[in-house]
Amino acid sequence: MSILNHLINGELSAGGSRTAPVFNPSTGQAARAVALADVATVQQAIAAAQAAYPAWRNTPPARRAQVMFRFKQLLEANEQRIAQLISEEHGKTLEDAAGELKRGIENVEYACGVPELLKGEYNRNVGPNIDAWSDFQPLGVVAGITPFNFPAMVPLWMYPLAIACGNTFILKPSERDPSSTLLIAQLLHEAGLPKGVLNVVHGDKEAVDALIESPDVKALSFVGSTPIAEYIYSEGTKHGKRVQALGGAKNHAVLMPDADLDNAVSALMGAAYGSCGERCMAISVAVCVGDQVADALIAKLTPQIQALKIGAGTSCGLDMGPLVTAAARDKVVGYIDDGVAAGAELVVDGRGYRVAGHEGGYFVGGTLFDRVTPDMRIYQEEIFGPVLCVVRVNSLEEAIALINAHEYGNGTCIFTRDGEAARLFADLIEVGMVGINVPLPVPVAYHSFGGWKRSLFGDLHAYGPDGVRFYTRRKAITQRWPQRASHEASQFAFPSL
Ligand code: NAD
Repeated sequence: MSILNHLINGELSAGGSRTAPVFNPSTGQAARAVALADVATVQQAIAAAQAAYPAWRNTPPARRAQVMFRFKQLLEANEQRIAQLISEEHGKTLEDAAGELKRGIENVEYACGVPELLKGEYNRNVGPNIDAWSDFQPLGVVAGITPFNFPAMVPLWMYPLAIACGNTFILKPSERDPSSTLLIAQLLHEAGLPKGVLNVVHGDKEAVDALIESPDVKALSFVGSTPIAEYIYSEGTKHGKRVQALGGAKNHAVLMPDADLDNAVSALMGAAYGSCGERCMAISVAVCVGDQVADALIAKLTPQIQALKIGAGTSCGLDMGPLVTAAARDKVVGYIDDGVAAGAELVVDGRGYRVAGHEGGYFVGGTLFDRVTPDMRIYQEEIFGPVLCVVRVNSLEEAIALINAHEYGNGTCIFTRDGEAARLFADLIEVGMVGINVPLPVPVAYHSFGGWKRSLFGDLHAYGPDGVRFYTRRKAITQRWPQRASHEASQFAFPSL
């Protein structure tokens, strides 16, 4: 079995005595294994990033941007190869894999504008002959820890911008589907990135803890589940680091009585079942305002869920692939069992789904529950699978109160033709990303991405303008040039105009 190694100082290298198998979730077979870094390997990567930092920090931003331009071209040229690797290890369809790569490339495009993004602020004559400006300087060595569900896109949220801002970077990708992430990092080196500026260490908790504990790592960006996000945030800040830690989600879609139901159903199908529900912005709860809406929704959704085309992600023309691991499949099935036991009405049951020729794959069919209530675990917890729960309420106000009471606040959306209702919803909802007739309101690269409540720990959101602020420190500089011959008396009162 081939072993995927770390990328340290521009070279592939072994490190750590442990490995983990990487499965193809469509077959249940492991074709390769990934090295799991020990503390010494992580320290080697940190040392490489530190050594590369002084020269990279002083490289003109326009030169750094030129590397990003070449990187974008290489990513586009290698789209099929990358999508194939994503699909082989994650299980999502090839079209979906290509889609996540395209959204990742948007962040590279944003990073290409770094000379403009790093422009400081300047004021002449803030006092007599005194000028002031702000300079946005890099932090040093920074690190990113990423989840399995977007092995291309989420790392691209982080390091292109961090590096373009003059930092050097250590990426710890998910150990479940690391091949596409590693290939993309190699393409950045092909684009001309100096050695040591981006390092990839594969691993698990041992590698992550080594990053947290190193005083040489100045900031951590994390994307993953809420318990780990909270751990990274509390431990990282305890170690004096700047941390942004994005966590899990339970995203609600509100259907108003005046919604264009056919279009809302089409939107919900993609948002709930695309990528087998393994998206942090997946819609997992449909909140229907009134029984009429709920009944009509269920009637339209049911045949479409039953007709979902499910198979090995690498086959063409599919809607949905398998879940990422056997453990993920078992967890989702456990939630479906739990929902039935709690009294929710199981309208479509995806348990026991079989794909001919792929009997070892981790498949679960599209699943739909009706009459779900807030006391049920299937409502409260993130299932991260192809399970949509319908909750019935009587008014928009009740829908807003329901969503605001949930512990997560990543994404949400409303389907309506009523501008007043949409405006009220957008104003009052306690969720970080809101769609109005848009089911997956993932902000484009020149806005920033982040949830509220227990979906994000930290202040700044990921990528876009917040990303620039996260990966730089402001320095405020005040200057004056006294006339050579003049003598100035000491001033003991606090200086003011
Ligand atoms: P995860 O939390 O299991 O893993 C994320 C990363 O943390 C991986 O690199 C993993 O190796 C590492 N990790 C795991 N356990 C750890 C531990 N005990 N100590 C230190 N590090 C550890 O998440 P996942 O299963 O890979 O991804 C799915 C989760 O990510 C879902 O909850 C999903 O909602 C969330 N997610 C959130 C966003 C967002 O933007 N808010 C985006 C994508 C995914």
